[in-house]
Amino acid sequence: MTGFNVNKVAFDSEVTAGWQGRGACRQHDPDMWFAPALAPDAKRICQGCPVWRLCGAEADDADERIGIRAGFDMSRRAERTRLRIALGRVSPKAEYLEFTCGDCGGVFITRRGYRICPTCRGLVDAGPVRDHILALNAADIPRTQIAAQVGMSKHSMWHLFTGKKGELPLHVSKEIADRICAIPVPARVAS
Ligand code: SF4
Ligand SMILES: [Zn+2]
Repeated sequence: MTGFNVNKVAFDSEVTAGWQGRGACRQHDPDMWFAPALAPDAKRICQGCPVWRLCGAEADDADERIGIRAGFDMSRRAERTRLRIALGRVSPKAEYLEFTCGDCGGVFITRRGYRICPTCRGLVDAGPVRDHILALNAADIPRTQIAAQVGMSKHSMWHLFTGKKGELPLHVSKEIADRICAIPVPARVAS
């Protein structure tokens, strides 16, 4: 959280260059973006703002937690998530939400339902694991063989690459991931 105030910046006559100088809030009382009673009016003005995307992206990058940015109330977790969806940073299909882990207290993004973060559930990112499997496949090691070698079911291996409703799984068990990534990719023999 930075406490950076785009509206006050936009109001500052010194700031005319850059997107801040083109913000629709520039024409209005900056306090509107911080007074809860006036939030609906501020949001309406943001909705017609030509630089909402830049403003929203900056607020999200800075994990801003106060005021209205890009039409979203940054003090509310659900609205921060909706901003991230509007920016295309998380999938609306998967209904991603921010949660605080009940175990370690860390904040994580998840699909509805999980209360414990992936790390505390013994999970790791699936992306690098998929990449390693693809590298093994490219070296003529089939997925069925990899699955058998690491004690993973064929279904789990299939799910890792097809997912559900167009969404690939975000995580895999650390134990399985470690075993898969320990399989060396054979060096290509020059032909
Ligand atoms: S999106 Fe809203 S807060 Fe951001 S610059 Fe535009 S009007 Fe101002
Ligand atoms: Zn945790």
